[in-house]
Amino acid sequence: MKPDEKCLALDLGGTKLLVGIVSGAGEIMASRGYPSPLAGGADQRDVAAGMLASLDDFLASHPLEGVTCMGAGVVGRVDNARGLWLEIDPRRCATVELARLLGERCGLPCRVDNDVRCALRAERLFGRGRGLDDFIYVNIGTGIAAGIVTGGHMVKGAHFNGGETGHVAVDISGDAQCPCGRTGCAEAIASGSGLDRRARALRSRYPRTRLTIPEGAPCRAEEIFRLAREGDALCLRLAGDAAEAAAALIQNLVWTFDPEAVALGGGVVADPWMFDQIAQRLTEDCMRFVHGIQLTSLDPRLTGLIGAAMCGFDAP
Ligand SMILES: [Zn+2]
Repeated sequence: MKPDEKCLALDLGGTKLLVGIVSGAGEIMASRGYPSPLAGGADQRDVAAGMLASLDDFLASHPLEGVTCMGAGVVGRVDNARGLWLEIDPRRCATVELARLLGERCGLPCRVDNDVRCALRAERLFGRGRGLDDFIYVNIGTGIAAGIVTGGHMVKGAHFNGGETGHVAVDISGDAQCPCGRTGCAEAIASGSGLDRRARALRSRYPRTRLTIPEGAPCRAEEIFRLAREGDALCLRLAGDAAEAAAALIQNLVWTFDPEAVALGGGVVADPWMFDQIAQRLTEDCMRFVHGIQLTSLDPRLTGLIGAAMCGFDAP
């Protein structure tokens, strides 16, 4: 791709859908956020329909002048070569021909991939992974997953499920229940959704907590971390366990893949205090070659959108 080429990009996250136009140099020319059609456990075909509706709205006010291609990043398993969105999760697995659907809507060639693998492309081109053949990007947001490059190759796996490291167990004897059926998964303890579930499970043991636990909406990670800093016992427990779980996951990955660097992104680690809590729990033996962890140098809110565009440009 050339720096002045333009790509129409969609980044589907757990809380929002971003649509934008991104240049080959990674510059965002225009973007708009929409409520995520993933919210509320929607069926996969309905989510795809929701993406098309938001795309139509975006196109109504943004001409596609100079745009030559299209890319989308979505959660779950994606067959990038065939343009198929295979599943959101094991219970929502109605395959959608997403690249064809989106591309036909705009008359542009379209490529799709998993959202974290899209973010990994952005990190490799413009962020902490620039020029590195062995690099790990761990996204800790609503869920947890890792984009892994080993020996210059992006890990996809035989079923496009490689890198779903949120379900690496980090607390074997713990009681944090994960929707995947195991206990002690990193995602069940350290992700936004895990923090919310654990806050509800542990609330009765901490009657004096000041944490707001709303009905019909998730607890806010920023509030948990702020109250932890103020000494709220429930929030200290939640944040401490989350930092421990994230540090364990990162070190499991470092021991497994021996990368040159590890970068973190996502809403949970965007809080500098939380990032430090994780960094403090890393051990010297494990981290001696990577010299600790780094926060993404890209805007964590936009990494996915830039990555979706790089997928559209077919960047490796
Ligand atoms: Zn799990």
